[in-house]
Amino acid sequence: MTDRSLLILPGDGIGPEVMAEVRKIIDWFGTRGLAFDVSEDLVGGAAYDAHGTPLTDATMAKAQEVDAVLLGAVGGPKYDVLDFSVKPERGLLRLRKEMDLYANLRPAQCFDALADFSSLKKDIVAGLDIMIIRELTSGVYFGEPRGIHTEGNERVGVNTQRYTESEIARVARSAFELARKRDNRVCSMEKANVMESGVLWRDVVQEIHDAEYPDVELSHMYADAGAMQLTRWPKQFDVIVTDNLFGDLLSDLAAMLTGSLGMLPSASLGAPMENGRPKALYEPVHGSAPDIAGQGKANPIACILSFAMALRYSFDLGDEADRVEAAVETVLADGLRTADLLGEEGMTPVSTAEMGDAIVARLAAG
Ligand code: NAD
Repeated sequence: MTDRSLLILPGDGIGPEVMAEVRKIIDWFGTRGLAFDVSEDLVGGAAYDAHGTPLTDATMAKAQEVDAVLLGAVGGPKYDVLDFSVKPERGLLRLRKEMDLYANLRPAQCFDALADFSSLKKDIVAGLDIMIIRELTSGVYFGEPRGIHTEGNERVGVNTQRYTESEIARVARSAFELARKRDNRVCSMEKANVMESGVLWRDVVQEIHDAEYPDVELSHMYADAGAMQLTRWPKQFDVIVTDNLFGDLLSDLAAMLTGSLGMLPSASLGAPMENGRPKALYEPVHGSAPDIAGQGKANPIACILSFAMALRYSFDLGDEADRVEAAVETVLADGLRTADLLGEEGMTPVSTAEMGDAIVARLAAG
């Protein structure tokens, strides 16, 4: 028996293929005395096919009970015709909403072997390792009033940026806690020069820092300047914390610093549960990639790195997470590439399973 529970939701398209490689790593840890209590269930189109809903109440309940949920990807052309209420993405949105996952973690990490993949110069991105924390459950995507109405003889579109102190405080705490596990630096980004919500954001982040995390180095930056600095010299940052809208843009910008979609993990964290672990959902940033599904072409690394994040942030197994990341780094340095990572001529791609096997073999080699 183990006190580490994991719910695996492979989903659709390449989701089950990449998740099969994660299972190999979980099994390998199991043989080393580090067991996980793993259950598996359906989400997205796969759940719709079986149950007529993209997420059953039973699966939702299970997700609330476990320490961490690991999700592959959802969606596909087959489901495009479905009503909005039962589309595969609704399953994912329900998980995020009901688990109240307010902190979205998107690392931008550039493995040296892939530095040529970036659109920036190699020396600017090689060795990059930053983390963007985006507030995920409030802000302008949720604020009221919202809508399109008519004033006089023209239409007006309205959205409202709204943040409460407690919403800012809890995501700020997530950022400071995370920084303590990294390089101990947080840069908070907003637009306090033109937005009142930005003034409050800056005040609350500073207050939480001064009262609870004085040991962490804190700086503030306007989000537009932050975008410039991210492309000019991204290595100056460690943890960036920002709101939902700016985080949406900045995390995508940072992701592209590192090259391929098949390499990008993510985590969404909520409040601590009774056992002290946060509610948590880990998933690769990519979708279900229907164009390559079932062909053994998918890169499993984004999903494997998502599991590494689970090791670090749900189970406090930082050393084991480091080992997985180091195994990925070595395999890439050895020249192994799935088709999405092929750059130089003459390279032959490995399959999804071959990449997973190579990472496990590297782990086993120590
Ligand atoms: P996508 O991320 O699935 O694919 C974009 C491109 O990147 C494709 O050419 C794909 O082959 C490639 N790609 C993605 N992941 C890869 C991997 N691991 N290895 C190699 N190549 C990879 O985005 P899309 O094509 O816009 O969407 C396809 C479906 O996925 C849609 O139904 C969409 O709604 C859904 N989607 C789901 C999620 C999610 O589950 N979180 C996210 C984005 C899109």
